[in-house]
This record gives sequence, structure tokens and C-alpha cells, in this order.
Amino acid sequence: MGEVKGFLKFKREVSGYQKTEDRLKHWDEFAIPLEDEKLRNQGARCMDCGVPFCQSGCPVSNIIPDWNDFVYRNNWEAAYKRLSSTNNFPEFTGRVCPAPCENSCTLAFNEDAVTIKQIELSIIENAFKNDFVKSVKPKKRSGKTVAVVGSGPAGLACADELNKKGHSVTVFEKNELPGGLLTFGIPNFKLDKWVVKRRISLMEESGIVFKTNTNIGVDITLTKLKEDSDIVVLCGGAEKSRELDIPGRNLEGIHLAMEFLPQQNRINMGQKISDPINATGKNVVVIGGGDTGSDCIGTSNRQGAKSIVNLELMPKPPVKRAGDNPWPQWARIERTSTSHEEGCKREYSVLTKSFEGVNNKVKKLNLIKVEWSKDRSSGRMQMREIPNSEFSIEADLVFLALGFVSPNTKNFTSDINLTLDQRGNIKTDENYMTTVDGIFSAGDMRRGQSLVVWAIDEGRKAAKSIHQYVSEND
Ligand SMILES: Cc1cc2nc3c(=O)[nH]c(=O)nc-3n(C[C@H](O)[C@H](O)[C@H](O)COP(=O)(O)OP(=O)(O)OC[C@H]3O[C@@H](n4cnc5c(N)ncnc54)[C@H](O)[C@@H]3O)c2cc1C
Ligand code: SF4
Repeated sequence: MGEVKGFLKFKREVSGYQKTEDRLKHWDEFAIPLEDEKLRNQGARCMDCGVPFCQSGCPVSNIIPDWNDFVYRNNWEAAYKRLSSTNNFPEFTGRVCPAPCENSCTLAFNEDAVTIKQIELSIIENAFKNDFVKSVKPKKRSGKTVAVVGSGPAGLACADELNKKGHSVTVFEKNELPGGLLTFGIPNFKLDKWVVKRRISLMEESGIVFKTNTNIGVDITLTKLKEDSDIVVLCGGAEKSRELDIPGRNLEGIHLAMEFLPQQNRINMGQKISDPINATGKNVVVIGGGDTGSDCIGTSNRQGAKSIVNLELMPKPPVKRAGDNPWPQWARIERTSTSHEEGCKREYSVLTKSFEGVNNKVKKLNLIKVEWSKDRSSGRMQMREIPNSEFSIEADLVFLALGFVSPNTKNFTSDINLTLDQRGNIKTDENYMTTVDGIFSAGDMRRGQSLVVWAIDEGRKAAKSIHQYVSEND
């Protein structure tokens, strides 16, 4: 373990950030990492628990106490080896993961958790700097071909694992660049795109083929893809945004978050976009309080919005865990992202009833306050509009960040008879195989809208099942 009683000696420290006024002038990442010495002290805080709750809280089961100890002992190469044995892409999770491991850390019971996410990021960046991260071509090819549809974290993790096993993997991506939401959804200030490019280059060097601008179901039918490959893995994400079907929705200036965020990422890549959505000088309202909403706020602030209001239907969460939400559960507490800190007004328990406009352009949102209570019989939260609590706010630009309902499966299901689950996701068995023999699925397309770390976990587990299936059916 790190240092006995290290958690009593050292206080938790995390990375710093550039000042708001400085970071709003650019689109790049703005975290200032901790120096190595401070990181080693943070590693020393780990108690090497007999039952490491951090590890069970981590979707990819990272062996966290081991690498905390390696960092404490200044053995960065060993730390990298242990970390990369469970996580293909720590450089992504180290930047954008909400760190459920830190929620579950034993210290978080009555102290500040170990700085796990920051240590993870430093291990992988140190490994790249010192050339520990290498592209590895398998010594022998199995002769089996795998087509992965979609190049988000699930498709990438699956491709990486199967390539290591010697299978010949081609990743098909409908966009012009690989990476899925890592490239086109998550803004640069959370995840610089050179980070994604660096990993894709390594994967190409290790023999994985990427075919971009290829929409499966449109450019190549799923039937044809299956005929041409031994295995197909569908990792197309959960792309259907949740809509807000209320009066005035068709007014100009109301956009889905995913019409806005990819545009800015493309502009940052130097692409020309004609008449892009622009928040400069505008009163912006973002409906939805999750990651996507927060990213719309950060992007609008960098574009120079005049004001930003963030509306959330749910009540304001408590600052500390409530009694019915004990450690090591995911803490349902108010979270303030760096984008929120950069400037916005947050309104909770608000329902949007309609939009109003002038000359077909949105000008106002009509809102009402709601209250929530638990239904005694079902235990579910129920919403009630508070009488006479109507109010309005001005807006020139509205972003709908209400989450994602399901994947786009029309082009697949019209071709091959894939079964969907009740939520419209692709149905698989416990081995990630769909109802069609030899076609698998992983990531948000299978489990619904989720997190990067879950997508990596799904891709890894699907690859394991595929390898077993291929070996058994040889
Ligand atoms: C704006 C935003 C911010 C987010 N921020 C965070 C965050 O901070 N932390 C976090 O952990 N998670 C975050 N998430 C969630 C996270 O990005 C996703 O859970 C994760 O990317 C899902 O990975 P995936 O591989 O399943 O799908 P995706 O990343 O969605 O990738 C799917 C890929 O498949 C491609 N595709 C789809 N259909 C086809 C087809 N027919 N043919 C070819 N290609 C196809 C798509 O173009 C896409 O590139 C965020 C999501 C959004 C939208
Ligand atoms: S739960 Fe926290 S203190 Fe215990 S091993 Fe994991 S990181 Fe270390």
C-alpha cells in the first residue's frame, strides 16, 4: 500500500484550472495537472483496502489500489501496465469520466476520496511521454474477419481487443473521422481532439483498418457486410435525441444540442460550416441539466453569449448525500461542472410549457414551477405543476439537451430481422450476440445512453464473447 496513515498526513488535492476569463478565450483543455510529487502524495493516501470499493465502483474494474501504490513508489511503467490491463483508453476516462470509483472509495465514507481520476490521467500521459505506449501488431492472424460498425469508445475498445487476439478488424464509421462522441459530441475543452487522433493512429499502426464516410445500412447493407465478414459488431451509439413536443417547437432558434455541439467541434477542426448556430450576443436557454446541457453552456460561453439560463425539470439535489443515498452508492448530490462555473443561471423544478416568437424566431419560453413527491404505492417520483407559478424568460437561442431515447436502427432492421428491446435498443443475449447469429452489439446502441467508461466496458466484454464464439465455431 502507499504510506500507512498517508490519508491522515496528506489532504486530497486535484488539478487546478486556468482562470475563467483566460480559458473562455480558447477552445482547448484548461486543466492544470498536479506535479508528480503531489500525485505521489495522493497515491500515498490510498489505504489498499481489503475490499477495494473503488474497484467494484469502476465499470471496467480498474485495479486502482495497485496503481496508486506504483505511483507512490515512482514506478510509472508498472502503474501504466496495470492500468492498461483493464482500460484500453485511460486518456479518455482520465479526462471525462464522472469517476464512480471516487464515489465508492472507502475514504469517501467520512473523508475526501483518493484523487483516482487525476492519478489515472497522469499515469497514461506519463506513459505516452516516456514511450511506454506502443502499437502492437499481433504475431499471428487468426484468418477471421470482424466488421465493427461505429467508432465510438465501444467500437474502438472492441476493435482493439479483437485485434490483439489476431482477428482482422475493420471499423466502419459514417462520419468523416473516427471517435464517435469523443470526436463530435464532447467539446474540445473537455477532450482535445489530438488525444483521440493519437489513439486512432496507434490502432491503425497495430493493423486495424478504419473506413470513414461509410454508413452501414445506406452505403453497404448489413446483409452484405455480414456476407463479407465472419462477425459484425454493431456499436452505433444512441443517436435519437429526446424531443420537446410543445407549442412553438418549430420556431427558428430552437435546436437539439447535437445540432450545435458537433458544428463547433468541426469548426475547431478548421472545417467551413455555412451559417452555423451562433450564440454570440444572444440570450441562451439550455433545457436539460446533464453532461450535454453543460457542454452547450461551455460552448455558448466561449462563443460570447449575452446570458445563459439552464433549466432542469428535477428538483435541486442536496449538497451532501441524503439519508436514503448512503456510501458507496453513486451520490445524488448537486454537481457543478466547470462549464456551470464559467457562468450561467441554474433553475430547478421548472417545466417548459411553450415557446413564443416574433417573425417566426423564438423570443420567449413560458414556464411553470413544479413540485415532486414520492408515490407511496409505486415508490416513483411524481410531478405536479404548482398553481399560479407560471413565468416567462426571454431567449434568442434554445438548446434541447434532454437526453437520448434510443439508437437509429431503421437501416439495420429493414434489412436484417434484428430484435429490439422495450426501449428500442438492440437486444442481445448475455454474450452480446443479437438475435441474428454472428452479429453482436455493444455500447450505447445496446445499453442505451450511458458513459464513455461503460462503452469501453461493453466493447471489451463483447470482444471476449466474440473471441470465444469464433474459437468454438472454427
Ligand atoms: C454532448 C455529450 C457529452 C458527453 N459527455 C460525457 C462525459 O463527459 N463523460 C462520459 O463518460 N460520457 C459522456 N457522454 C456520453 C458518451 O459520450 C457516450 O456514452 C459514449 O460515447 C458511447 O459510446 P458508443 O461507442 O456506444 O457510441 P458513440 O460514441 O455514440 O459512437 C457511435 C458511432 O457510431 C457511428 N455510427 C452510427 N450508426 C452508424 C452506421 N449505420 N454506420 C457507420 N457508423 C455508424 C456514429 O457516427 C458514431 O461515430 C456524452 C455524450 C454527449 C452526447
Ligand atoms: S477504496 Fe479508496 S482507499 Fe480503498 S483501495 Fe480504493 S482508492 Fe484506495
